[in-house]
Amino acid sequence: MLTINENYLKLPGNYLFSEIAKRVSTYTAENPEKDIIRLGIGDVTRPLAPAVIDAMHKAVDEMGTIEGFHGYGPEQGYPFLRETIRQKDYIDIGVNISADEIFVSDGAKSDCGNIGDIFGGDNVVAVCDPVYPVYVDTNAMAGRAGDYDGTRWTDILYMPCNEANGFMPELPVRTPDIIYLCFPNNPTGAAATKPQLKLWVDYALKNGAVILFDSAYEAYITEEGIPHSIYEIEGAKECAIEFRSFSKTAGFTGNRCAYTVVPMDLKFGGTLLNRLWNRRQCTKFNGVPYVVQRGAEAVYSEQGMREVREIIDYYMNNAKVIRTGLQKAGLTVFGGINSPYVWTKTPGGADSWGFFDRLLREAGVVTTPGAGFGPEGEGYIRLTGFGDAEATKRAVERVVGIL
Ligand code: PLP
Repeated sequence: MLTINENYLKLPGNYLFSEIAKRVSTYTAENPEKDIIRLGIGDVTRPLAPAVIDAMHKAVDEMGTIEGFHGYGPEQGYPFLRETIRQKDYIDIGVNISADEIFVSDGAKSDCGNIGDIFGGDNVVAVCDPVYPVYVDTNAMAGRAGDYDGTRWTDILYMPCNEANGFMPELPVRTPDIIYLCFPNNPTGAAATKPQLKLWVDYALKNGAVILFDSAYEAYITEEGIPHSIYEIEGAKECAIEFRSFSKTAGFTGNRCAYTVVPMDLKFGGTLLNRLWNRRQCTKFNGVPYVVQRGAEAVYSEQGMREVREIIDYYMNNAKVIRTGLQKAGLTVFGGINSPYVWTKTPGGADSWGFFDRLLREAGVVTTPGAGFGPEGEGYIRLTGFGDAEATKRAVERVVGIL
């Protein structure tokens, strides 16, 4: 008789955003006349850049011709996109990455989750707390997390990120094998400096660990001196895999395109991780649609870069409105400078679900309770700059009005 992967049964019932959706729909069913502003979920709202739309239209037309038709593409991505990424995201900032180290995919979420396929089941996993839940849940599915005790997984190493340490994880006492780092961070909005990342690169090299570096929000860095890639740190090519995405950079959340860099220098026990990831992708993945990859390529054109920058600035201005508005109202806020996320302390030490409910019921504003990102997130809520500018202003006024 069939047996199932019992690790799935250990997962806690409600995924964070499903629970939020449930509470919001209960509230709107009870109060259908109330106007709700959503500053919770991290999806983008602005339309795609015209340069992207033009490139995709052109690619669709090509697909309708004998000469321009594209069937299955290379599993690793079309050379035109891999070459463009190499040049614009790496060579131009002085980082030497080759095209065969870049794997184009349908999302940083899938890649961050799937990367575990190439690692042994007995590795010790370290994550920041609070954390993007995908890192934890996918390791739980793979049996690396132990058991869930209602707050934490018994075998995961949680690295607290809080006000006291500036939301930067400290080197753990017990040595992990797999270290997830995400900068600029979701949810706290913290960005790591070069010395801060260097500490982790040196630590990983010394301990034979791999760093899984999620830089999905790299495009939101505004301050000078903050690295845009972990490979700006010496030695990182021997210990780190980097995940990037067009989702937040260019509004591709519904288009699906991202990429993962697995350097050729990354070897463990004489095995090239690049070879394993290539094998994994070729077996389980059939590439990103040609039309979407042409759209992603257009992000790097002069026009594309300009248009995408305008959209990012729009979101970052929202983040500033949230940040300054809440600060003026006396709340303690973090993030919103190198990240679209504003991480806000709840007033009077309120618990984060309690404050979430209050903001929903009294202000009609949807946020994300910090506790949903891990135990250290308790006492915080996350607001995002991804909304409409006008609605964001109104939401901030309403929140300030109930404080
Ligand atoms: N990584 C982080 C930290 C994220 O916050 C998100 C989306 O919210 C993703 C990855 C997902 O990216 P993608 O849309 O490319 O799957």
